Parts: sequence; C-alpha cells; structure tokens
Amino acid sequence: MVTNKKALEMIDVISDMFPDAECELKHDNPFQLTIAVLLSAQTTDNSVNRLTKGLFKKYKTAEDFLSVEQAELEQDIKTIGLYRNKAKNIQKLCRSLLDKFDGKIPQTHKELESLAGVGRKTANVVMSVAFGEPSLAVDTHVERVSKRLGICRWKDNVKQVEEKLCRVVPRERWNKTHHQLIFFGRYHCLARTPKCDVCPLFEDCREGQKRYKARLRKA
Ligand code: SF4
Repeated sequence: MVTNKKALEMIDVISDMFPDAECELKHDNPFQLTIAVLLSAQTTDNSVNRLTKGLFKKYKTAEDFLSVEQAELEQDIKTIGLYRNKAKNIQKLCRSLLDKFDGKIPQTHKELESLAGVGRKTANVVMSVAFGEPSLAVDTHVERVSKRLGICRWKDNVKQVEEKLCRVVPRERWNKTHHQLIFFGRYHCLARTPKCDVCPLFEDCREGQKRYKARLRKA
C-alpha cells in the first residue's frame, strides 16, 4: 500500500481533474434522493434519472408510493435492474418512514440505516448530499479506484476502504472527494477499460503498470 501522504497526493491529482464533481442523481429533496440512491444499485445514474423524471411526478410522498400495489410500482420501475426487489424495498422504506419518522427522511446514520434497503453507502450519500454532513460513501467506483491505486488493500471490505479514505482525506474534503473519486472511476479509470495511456497517475499506479506490462508481453 502507498503511504497516507502519497495517497493524498494522488487524490489531489484526481481532485484537480474533476473539480466540479457532484451528485449526478437528479432530485429536489432528501426523500427523492433516498429513493434515487436506492434505485441506483447496479444501475447507472443516467438510467435512474430517465426513470425518476416521470416517477417523481406520479409519486411525490411516502403515502403515494404506498397507495399502489407492489405490482404497479414494479411496472413503473421495470426499466432498471432488480426492479422487483427495489419496489419491495421502496414500499417497506416508505412504511417505516410513516411509522417512525412522520414521513420524513431522518438525519442520522443510525436511523437511516434502520430503513429497508438503506445500507451504509446509501446512508452516507444521503447524509452528505442531502444534509451536508461530512461523509465518504464507498461505492463500486470509489472502491475500485482506491484499490487500484494502492490506497487500500484488495482484500479490504467496503468499511475498511471508507475508514482508510477518511484517515487520508481531511474531513472538510470528504463530501467532495466522494464525488471526485466516483467521477474518476466513471469517466477515467473505468472498470473494463481504464485510460492508463493518458493517466496522470500512471507512474504511481501498480494496476496501470501491471496492465502496461501485460500489453507488452502480448505485443
Ligand atoms: Fe486507473 Fe490506469 Fe490510471 Fe491506474 S493508471 S489509476 S488503472 S487509469
């Protein structure tokens, strides 16, 4: 693994590449954001945005989502993956919101994680994006990038990745860094085709070097 100092230098480079990175899920309030994040599991943000454009016109509140049968909600979200499970979780989440939180999205990690379908990552995103609370959510991009760059170990779980990033990055930068690492993974260090040839971190990146050597061997 690289030192914390080197890790932060790498993150600084990423930060310079994507200074304006922000949440790409379209939403008008914490409730819409929570539903959008829940819908986004194993689906692109663009697909979710295409879907929620109409969905949030039909369903504005927790009551609205509970006013239909699960089958109807499934039909309304069937353009995205795992729609059956997501429809079930949305309705369970809306039920707990009404039962326990007066229909509003709670503002603590613990309460958020008590909601159906809301795990640590979703809670972190909601706390950070909706409420401005310092959080560093680890999604698939953040995890892949952190491991490729040697900031974390390949065997680290999501919580360990989050803890390491939070040690390396100053707290006041957590929210922004989360989005910048996502943009870096989404648009530059892609899962299948990372742009190592034009990567400013190539010299320091073990994964990039490994891929380069593998290409030379094949040539
Ligand atoms: Fe990703 Fe390649 Fe850059 Fe490494 S060198 S960070 S693998 S794009």
